[in-house]
Amino acid sequence: MHNKTIAEISRDLAAGEYSSVEITTELLSRVQQLDSEYNSFITVTAEQALAQARAADERRAAGNAEAWTGIPIAHKDIFCTNGVLTTCGSKMLSNFTAPYDATVIDKFNAAGAVSLGKLNMDEFAMGSSNESSFFGPVANPWDKERVPGGSSGGSAAAVAARLVPGATATDTGGSIRQPAALCGVTGLKPTYGRISRWGMIAYASSLDQAGTITRSAEDAALMLQIMAGFDARDSTCMNQAVPDYSASLNNSIEGMTIGLPAEYFRDDLSADMQQAVRNAIAEYEKMGAKVKEISLPNAHLAIPAYYIIAPAECSANLSRMDGVRFGYRCEDPQDIEDLYKRSRGEGFGGEVKRRIMVGAYALSAGFYDAYYKKAQQVRRLIKNDFAAALQEVDLIAGPVTPTPAFRRGEKTSDPVEMYLEDIFTIALNLAGLPGMSVPCGQVNGLPVGLQLIGNYFDEARLLNAAHQFQQATDWHLQKPADI
Ligand code: GLN
Repeated sequence: MHNKTIAEISRDLAAGEYSSVEITTELLSRVQQLDSEYNSFITVTAEQALAQARAADERRAAGNAEAWTGIPIAHKDIFCTNGVLTTCGSKMLSNFTAPYDATVIDKFNAAGAVSLGKLNMDEFAMGSSNESSFFGPVANPWDKERVPGGSSGGSAAAVAARLVPGATATDTGGSIRQPAALCGVTGLKPTYGRISRWGMIAYASSLDQAGTITRSAEDAALMLQIMAGFDARDSTCMNQAVPDYSASLNNSIEGMTIGLPAEYFRDDLSADMQQAVRNAIAEYEKMGAKVKEISLPNAHLAIPAYYIIAPAECSANLSRMDGVRFGYRCEDPQDIEDLYKRSRGEGFGGEVKRRIMVGAYALSAGFYDAYYKKAQQVRRLIKNDFAAALQEVDLIAGPVTPTPAFRRGEKTSDPVEMYLEDIFTIALNLAGLPGMSVPCGQVNGLPVGLQLIGNYFDEARLLNAAHQFQQATDWHLQKPADI
């Protein structure tokens, strides 16, 4: 049962092949047996999951089941869950039980889904390897010495290890696509504003976007269907109609034009990585797509611009963690200043502190124009590059990461080395565009992802292209040897 996709579970539950309680029990026992090796969960909500599964089975027995009734998934620990520990991977929130549900959580609950618990992540979603989590690193199921990517490393590892068929995740600069690529699963980062950020703990508010990690594009469509849509509680959530994402999965891609940015295929990307991505492009050509070389001339400015804008926004967002209202508080504060200083000093990890300092500096009087304003101007240039390219092509394709999964500890001593992990993913967030990571090959026995980038609110076309690729290839069905 644990190899089933969301689409298969939905069909099996409807056909009475097994009950929600049965599949939930099986997955919970896998988590119990195996997750000590992966560390993909921070909190397992077994009792609550079984109660939800029982309720789902009762609803089905009464003839009121819908597509999502009784399907088990899990959530990145960045989403507030009513009555359940919500840590964001930080000591700062290691004692924080959220008093309400995020909109995304609300929607899955309303659809009748079952939640097995909360998934590990880099602290406050800052990182590319899951090594910055207060709750310890996550192991990549393909090679436990290697990282699963980050920040949604727990989501990607849990889905790759068949502990859950799908998981929620978030992507501020690559945190869905990069871990999906490194773990050989399918990641979808929708358009900024497609999904409500209400109750999703903010890292960089103008970039953060919720999305999905699954084992197929078909499942990503099913999850997006639940998550997408307007929410008056998030002023950046767009009031745009939500199409039926599953309905267009089987459209032909004959005549679709795919753009290949010259900047994403430079000589410093290894020949093996280039080959895996080019093979995937060739597959699209076989299916009737046309390929066109394009240029994103400002792509090289994405990392520097992001590492001004994201820290600036995080320095403001994280100021609410002050040891007073919620979260970690230091022992025996002498006075209010001591309370702030030690609570924040002890509660935040190194990477988070680095970014708060960079962000506060970049926003300070005298430097604002030189750094923050300049970075926002560069951001506009990057957005314009994509807009021009997407006038000429339907989708853009390229690699997700420069290399397959790296070893734990390999990049922790040099933050810039770690930041470069997102060299192909970050520009998309700056532009607010939707993107996917689709398994497209292997290098040294480790999975490699193909990145697909679409136009604003064109998730349906992305999912269609990804699904067609998965109909023609079986990279998404490959799994780690011991699973
Ligand atoms: N790796 C990037 C960072 O550390 C992106 C993280 C993310 O998308 N949340 O900021």
